[in-house]
Amino acid sequence: MKNIYIILIFTLLIGCENAEKKSQEVNLYSQRHYKVDEKQYENFTNKTGIKVNYIKANADELLERLKNEGENSPADLFVSVDAGKLQKGADLGLFQKVSSSVIKNNVSKDLQDKNGYWIPITYRARVLVYSNERVNKEDLSTYEDLSNEKWKGRILVRSSSNAYNQALMSSIVANLGGDVASDWSEALVQNFARDPKGNDRDQVKAIAAGQGDVAIVNSYYIGLLLSSQKEEELNAGRSVSVFFPNQGDRGSHINISGLALAKNSPNKENAIKLMEFLTSEEAQMTYVNNSYEYAANPNVKPSKIVQGWGEFKRDNLDLNKLGEFRDEALKIFDSTGWK
Ligand code: FE
Repeated sequence: MKNIYIILIFTLLIGCENAEKKSQEVNLYSQRHYKVDEKQYENFTNKTGIKVNYIKANADELLERLKNEGENSPADLFVSVDAGKLQKGADLGLFQKVSSSVIKNNVSKDLQDKNGYWIPITYRARVLVYSNERVNKEDLSTYEDLSNEKWKGRILVRSSSNAYNQALMSSIVANLGGDVASDWSEALVQNFARDPKGNDRDQVKAIAAGQGDVAIVNSYYIGLLLSSQKEEELNAGRSVSVFFPNQGDRGSHINISGLALAKNSPNKENAIKLMEFLTSEEAQMTYVNNSYEYAANPNVKPSKIVQGWGEFKRDNLDLNKLGEFRDEALKIFDSTGWK
């Protein structure tokens, strides 16, 4: 009898220990693909003892996985580089609202989700970069103007399967309507220097190689090129300048990178702690100085390189619209031949 009690106590102790171990972790499904993230998670673990596990894949795959796993999902946080995908996840009922005054105070009001389902950690502008040799800055103005004949055979941009371009097109549909967006896309495709291929960095390299003159890219990639150890990347970064389009009207298109708390998060407290940490001034400094994104925390200035491009007016469209107009944007890509 005594032995049985001892075994029982042992079992309970081991059970407790396991439960405690289990609570000291947080699981991420992440669409982000930047080196800085590992550094952030390491810093968080050093501070709190909470281990950060993550899997990386594209946003649609991760949302699908969350949906299929349902109540049994181990995921605590969904991490995206597109407000549109966060809006989609919220729409599918995959997230729960977070109410943390720490997070609310950490991030700019105008970048927050009005519905309360996701929080921004950084933002980025989809800018124009142009050849220092072959383009006069005065010739650039708006995204819309890139469809002008003067740019025939000179525009570089990646494929329409990419979320950054999908978000940009969604913003144009939201701001100007589907018909204008469609006409724009049709004319823009005629101005492409080549069939869309490669990532944002490849478009800048193509300018350096003389294959085109103006590229549509996310701002931080220029920071990454200019701080690269690779000669080819440095040269590509130095061959171009950054231009913020639409400064005379609605402002340049921006998107956020953000986090949402999974509906069935098993480590909710740890997840909120991580959200609070990632929006803190300390972690926001790590973002701006390593990934050259803009901080969601208004107290944190951009890196020196990014400050060099000057301040800009951002399109203050409700970022959930980047999700709401996504299907229409995809149809426009399809019907206008933007591969
Ligand atoms: Fe990126």
